[in-house]
Amino acid sequence: MSIVNAKEILIQAVEERYAVGAFNITNLVQMEGVVDAHIEMHAPLIIQTSVTPSKFLGQEVIPAIYQAIAETAPIPICLHLDHCREVDYCKSCADKGWTNIMIDASRLPFEENIQQTKEVVDYCHALGGISVEGELGTVSGVEDQIVVAEDVSQLCDPEQAMIFIEETGVDLLAPAIGTAHGVYKTANPKVDFDRFARISEMVNGKEVRVPLVVHGGTGLPENYVRKLVSLGGAKFNVSTDLKRTWIDAVYGYISENRDEYNPGKLDAHARKATKEKVKEWIAMFGSAGKA
Ligand SMILES: [Zn+2]
Repeated sequence: MSIVNAKEILIQAVEERYAVGAFNITNLVQMEGVVDAHIEMHAPLIIQTSVTPSKFLGQEVIPAIYQAIAETAPIPICLHLDHCREVDYCKSCADKGWTNIMIDASRLPFEENIQQTKEVVDYCHALGGISVEGELGTVSGVEDQIVVAEDVSQLCDPEQAMIFIEETGVDLLAPAIGTAHGVYKTANPKVDFDRFARISEMVNGKEVRVPLVVHGGTGLPENYVRKLVSLGGAKFNVSTDLKRTWIDAVYGYISENRDEYNPGKLDAHARKATKEKVKEWIAMFGSAGKA
């Protein structure tokens, strides 16, 4: 159907309390598997690339493939740059065709986070058609997950979130609430639902202003995912689960077909495995039938 930015597909998600999945990809076949799942389930989609794969695959190549796929797909698709810490690289990806840019200045002091985020927002809004995601508080790596979850000072402060939104004009906000990147080592990660609910009510209670983003989807129990979505988590990031699915599918295929030298068969197997995994997430997000 179309090339879209994230904000334009997330407003409806907040209003109707479902989430649009934001899936990290590192190669073309994986991207196609993610797209297959969303077309099959009629769901809107955000494709994400981290900075390293964007450089590896090429800053020209990814948007070209994305545009070719999105222009002919029967669903809206956004291309998102994830966790970029360099203002200049954010700007260059906006120039090249990414339609949502995340400037992650969350490790910097509050005022510097505002300053860098605003610089990217101003740039992207001047270009037009590009939305910007900012982060407040720190989403930990898995090693620090419990420590960070217990250290409330690292989580997103609701009052600060309002100031951050006012001063930067940011389109999407990722508030740190205790979710973590990687794989959770505990069966019951400490997620601060009350904090998330407070932020959601303050930011989007009267009207949908700035859709909220949940990072660290992989490994969250299903009831956590559904609860975060019901509280207003409109963009839900999944990365590690797709990486594991890819590696396991490729490893499994090669192990069972050691004499097969047709890479197309391997690709088809991994593409299908990716599609099936992504469909599980779409079902949890409630986004099926929304496109
Ligand atoms: Zn993240």
